[in-house]
Amino acid sequence: MMYLAGVGPKKAEILRKEIDVVTWEDMIYYFPYKYIDRSKIFKIREINGNMPYIQLKGRIRYYEAVGEGRARRLTAVFYDDTGSIELVWFRMIKQIPSLYEVGKEYILFGKPTLFGHRINIAHPELETENKFYEGEVGVQGQYNTTEKMKNAFLHSRALQKIITQILQNIKTPLEETLNERIISKAHLISLDEAIRNIHFPKSADLLRKAQYRLKFEELFYLQLNILRVTKYREKRLGGFIFSKVGNYFNSFYEKNLPFELTNAQKKVVREIRHDTHTGRQMNRLLQGDVGSGKTLVALLSLLIALDNGFQGAIMAPTEILATQHFETISELVRGLGIEVALLTGSTKKKEREKILPKIKSGEIQITIGTHALIEDTVDFGNLGMIVVDEQHRFGVAQRAKLWKKNTVPPHVLVMTATPIPRTLAMTLYGDLDVSVIDELPPGRKPVKTLHVYDQKRRNLYTSVRKQIQSGRQVYIVYPLIEESEKIDLQNLTEGFEKTKEIFPEYKVSMVHGKMKPAEKEAEMQKFVSGETQIMVATTVIEVGVNVPNASVMIIENAERFGLSQLHQLRGRVGRGADQSYCILISKYELSENTRKRIAIMTETNDGFIIAEEDLKLRGPGDIDGTQQSGVAFNLKIANLSHDGQILSLARDLAREVLEEDPLLEKYPNQILKRQLYRLNRQHQMGWFMIS
Ligand code: ADP
Ligand code: MG
Repeated sequence: MMYLAGVGPKKAEILRKEIDVVTWEDMIYYFPYKYIDRSKIFKIREINGNMPYIQLKGRIRYYEAVGEGRARRLTAVFYDDTGSIELVWFRMIKQIPSLYEVGKEYILFGKPTLFGHRINIAHPELETENKFYEGEVGVQGQYNTTEKMKNAFLHSRALQKIITQILQNIKTPLEETLNERIISKAHLISLDEAIRNIHFPKSADLLRKAQYRLKFEELFYLQLNILRVTKYREKRLGGFIFSKVGNYFNSFYEKNLPFELTNAQKKVVREIRHDTHTGRQMNRLLQGDVGSGKTLVALLSLLIALDNGFQGAIMAPTEILATQHFETISELVRGLGIEVALLTGSTKKKEREKILPKIKSGEIQITIGTHALIEDTVDFGNLGMIVVDEQHRFGVAQRAKLWKKNTVPPHVLVMTATPIPRTLAMTLYGDLDVSVIDELPPGRKPVKTLHVYDQKRRNLYTSVRKQIQSGRQVYIVYPLIEESEKIDLQNLTEGFEKTKEIFPEYKVSMVHGKMKPAEKEAEMQKFVSGETQIMVATTVIEVGVNVPNASVMIIENAERFGLSQLHQLRGRVGRGADQSYCILISKYELSENTRKRIAIMTETNDGFIIAEEDLKLRGPGDIDGTQQSGVAFNLKIANLSHDGQILSLARDLAREVLEEDPLLEKYPNQILKRQLYRLNRQHQMGWFMIS
């Protein structure tokens, strides 16, 4: 990066540290985050506090330093022939006056802000007119910069100049990174044209085409990478063939099945049946909203494995859930002569020593447990099918570990109640096939969701009391955010004490993440068994716990929860036949974004709509599971919430390429292979190198 005018060693170091830009190439792949029309110059008279970034032309009348200590700042009066406006600087107070001279004409660029009754512009950029260069007059890119960069004069404008220089220095067109066929099939402009126009758009049309090309390319390589892994797995790893449906399945269906399957459940069982016929290992993601009946689908899949002489297993994220599954499933298969065992971290050594050999010999046919199941000490005789419940606690790496559990890997069914938007699923679980249960069992009453302001909570307690009097149970949930764990814990304990005061006639449990597992378990159990009527908790109860008798979910400080988290919490109620309620309590002043979140919750119970909205509001980086997944979600230009169509096309074309040439050996595809390796080397997609 050095050797360019204006980039000495110091600035080069800042670029490296702050935005990871080391080479010229890094720099030209640092794209603007937005564009501004710089062809218009406003008059000061026209300004109001709601405007985005604008340009003015005028002069500085005088400077004045005001305030003391931390409030110290530099102000200036800037004027044109229609009026004047105040400029403010909080940093670089000493340097500014010598940088921008009093009385000289400048083009000013900045965002007007209403400050009290007056409008000012903080940290404007000023340029003398003759410094304008080509490409800068029309639509112009804005680059993200950090505080440190700004302090070193590496603001958006400076980056633009560096990029201009680099592009001027590159005399021959940039080398292509996609082959002819893909370029023509996807109707893309060349890389060279795209890069030049993404920084300095010659026209709005070319800007659009440049964005399209670069987004496509980013998503194409992401998909190519994912699909390569899938291909590899399909090729290298065979799968057990479950050729028949036999006695276990049929007698369960005829004798034990407590109700008619929903059509959605039937459909998924058919899909699983189909997968397990092909001779390839099944890797299927089953999405179904809370309460949609995934457990039954899991059991039916395991029974097919048993019918073909294999063992099955269910892996749950917590002991509570594993125990619940164990109880449910033992009950469901009663009388069918099926051996079921529970294996978790707290299984006693003696018990463990009894169970492990039976798992090895195949005597135990269904094992249910926590991730203790994938520990090396657990040796399955012939594990044919494993169901992973509530996947978002299990990352890609764990899934890969499962493939290695056997010489022939077991079929894997991953179940999740956190619906994942389609685009995200394709990326995050792009190596999985997806099934959806999009129908709840009949007779469910949708949970009613209400928003209540803090001040109005008193009325609420009367209704809650009525619910408990008629035999129902109640959750009260407090937020838990890592940075302020102490405060949260204090909130929770206070809430616990207050709840006991408000409901002196009832018993109250409390559960939080800082408790020892056994303690937590015991407290939880009291609520499950109905010994306590109210459960005060943090989000530890979020996942999968089933207490059908609980009909009220009160969420305190609802403004602090994300959408999918609220939806998960709400899913803890509405599991029985009674009308259930979810009460979102918040303070009165809420940001627009939060108001929207809460409104969505009160308007819909549809997990898929909520997931889509969540993705729109938060962006993919914050969605549950993306962090653990290890997938690089720092996409440079594509946006999974908006670019679904481009993603689909990229995926289709990537698949087409691999169908024809799985190892990317043919001459026209070598360019793709090279680029893929290059991207992987840059750790953009590092986790895929698991094979
Ligand atoms: P989830 O998908 O959240 O894991 P569960 O499997 O725990 O849901 O099922 C929720 C409840 O619905 C359970 O009590 C289960 O017995 C019941 N259930 C499942 N399938 C059906 C069905 N087809 N008809 C009626 N009730 C069902
Ligand atoms: Mg479940």
